[in-house]
Amino acid sequence: MLILMNADATPAMIKRVCEEVVDLGLTPHPIKGLQRTVINVTGNKYQVNADRILTLDGVHDIVIITKPYKLVSRESHPEDSHIDIGAGVIIGGPEFVVMAGPCSVESREQCFKIAEYVAKKGARVFRGGAFKPRTSPYSFQGLGEEGLKILAEVREKFGLLIVTEAVDTETLDMVGDYTDIIQIGARNMQNYSLLRKAGRTNKPILIKRGMSASLDEFLMAAEYVMVEGNPRVILCERGVRTFSNHNRNVLDLSAVTYVKKFSHLPIIADPSHGSGQKYKVVPLSRASLAAGADGLLVEVHHEPEKALSDGPQAITLTDFENLMSDVKKIAVAIGRTCK
Ligand code: PEP
Ligand code: MN
Repeated sequence: MLILMNADATPAMIKRVCEEVVDLGLTPHPIKGLQRTVINVTGNKYQVNADRILTLDGVHDIVIITKPYKLVSRESHPEDSHIDIGAGVIIGGPEFVVMAGPCSVESREQCFKIAEYVAKKGARVFRGGAFKPRTSPYSFQGLGEEGLKILAEVREKFGLLIVTEAVDTETLDMVGDYTDIIQIGARNMQNYSLLRKAGRTNKPILIKRGMSASLDEFLMAAEYVMVEGNPRVILCERGVRTFSNHNRNVLDLSAVTYVKKFSHLPIIADPSHGSGQKYKVVPLSRASLAAGADGLLVEVHHEPEKALSDGPQAITLTDFENLMSDVKKIAVAIGRTCK
């Protein structure tokens, strides 16, 4: 439920309405907009009788939201959210933010080599998994904390921010100690205890779309994080499974347009997992920007043939240079910027 206050409602009126909401056993989240304050109400498990609130001074109207998500919805927050991830980098604003790096942190040498190059070409964030959710227990599982330490060195040495995945509640705090953005992977998009715990951290959370998740389920994952008090959520479209046998996953760029319409949260695209083949990654990166994505998460490796995970979808350093040159041109054409 949303309570729309009159444009001239006083702080005392807003406070009174919030008290009434608490009285009903619900939680008010006042959001100050450009024109009026809107009070988002959460915690109702059934339809609330809003008559009491409608009679209070300063209340303009009440909107019952039919979508299951509230905090993430554009109705509750009409303006785009700008997520400050540190070092002056904002996701969801005019800048198209590129996050690039290997699938997995394999060694200091590997990360330094890739980081130096992608930083020089305009990446803002370095990606790399220290904890890897692998389909097979026999595959490389990541370097764990040693990998996180390498990522921290990358931040120091190359001035890149870091995004890396937390795969479980046990290691989430440790990951948060080293990274600038905590990634929740596709396989964990509906791991509600992990989402809730991520919502209690003070780090931006990147949520990847589950490989068979509907868009309402995707947005509800973000709702889990936000309802715990963390508003810094970035969504990531990374492809879904379809009948296609020419792709690992199908990057669903229409999801970008849907999320933009119904949510204020930024959404970036991952054309690497979204296709699984490196020749598709640069064209799909261009398309992602054109479709309205706020950034990219892309896998880059200096020696893809030696990668310990996801080698077939890793683009080379030269491919990355071409990618950046293309997206910079498109950004200018559609009124955005790219470093
Ligand atoms: C990744 O980004 O390396 C990853 C494992 O992605 P996803 O969760 O989308 O499969
Ligand atoms: Mn990967």
